[in-house]
Amino acid sequence: MSDPAGLIAAVVAAAAGAAGGAVVRALTLPGAAAAFCVGVMVFGLGGAGHAVALVSFFVSSSLLSAAGLRIRRRRGSPVSAAPARDAWQVAANGLIPALIALASALTNPGGTPSSREWLLLSAAALASMNADTWATEIGGLARARPRMMGSWKPVAAGESGGVTLLGVAAGLAGSLFVALMVAAWWPVGGAGLIWRPDLGEVFAVTWAGFLAMLADSILGAGVQARFRCRVCGSTTEERSHCSVAAERVSGWGPMDNNAVNLTASALGVAFAWILLRWFGGGL
Ligand SMILES: [Zn+2]
Repeated sequence: MSDPAGLIAAVVAAAAGAAGGAVVRALTLPGAAAAFCVGVMVFGLGGAGHAVALVSFFVSSSLLSAAGLRIRRRRGSPVSAAPARDAWQVAANGLIPALIALASALTNPGGTPSSREWLLLSAAALASMNADTWATEIGGLARARPRMMGSWKPVAAGESGGVTLLGVAAGLAGSLFVALMVAAWWPVGGAGLIWRPDLGEVFAVTWAGFLAMLADSILGAGVQARFRCRVCGSTTEERSHCSVAAERVSGWGPMDNNAVNLTASALGVAFAWILLRWFGGGL
């Protein structure tokens, strides 16, 4: 747990991030309120390492999404900006890291070395989210048509469960990015400018995030509910379209896109917990 000054800094940073997201319309107002709560918990209870993991995900995926939109527009593809994220979407990404920060603060009030494992578990949850975003944004630029996980039938770009080789590689890079940022914040050895990360930990977090991203695709392909708009007839992942409730055409009702993302980040934590025991060296 942070000292009072650290807690104030956490509230200010979370408020700035949430307000910024609302101003650029990346977040709805309830979405900004949810982002503020996640930020206060992660920054204030988890501390700087957890903040590095969250900010690495948030900044790199936001920049990639913006860049991907520009490139597709320049190619003349009919694209629109992603709608502002609501509170449920923010919770799907932020709930697990926030709960891990809380657990870390409760079990290690003084920030003992064992809090390092909480940090690595949080990093794995965010690595899985980052992998998913990088895979979607970079994979979406591939000229090859994505194929549905499992059946390998070509599907429309951007559909849940669709994967491309470029997307899978980008997902691995996205997961590695979060793992390296956290390792850079908290290296285990080295002196001065010589940086020595714990390769076992980097490997465990990267691989956990990557496997969770694949699980996300499998769930997206096999279980996730798909809906059809009663007004315009288009198929969608959203429960409502054109301002009316859409009808479900396939998948399991409770398993919408947010539930898939939340499940994937929880799986990232579980995979990391297992892999750290194999590769983490003395945890
Ligand atoms: Zn519609």
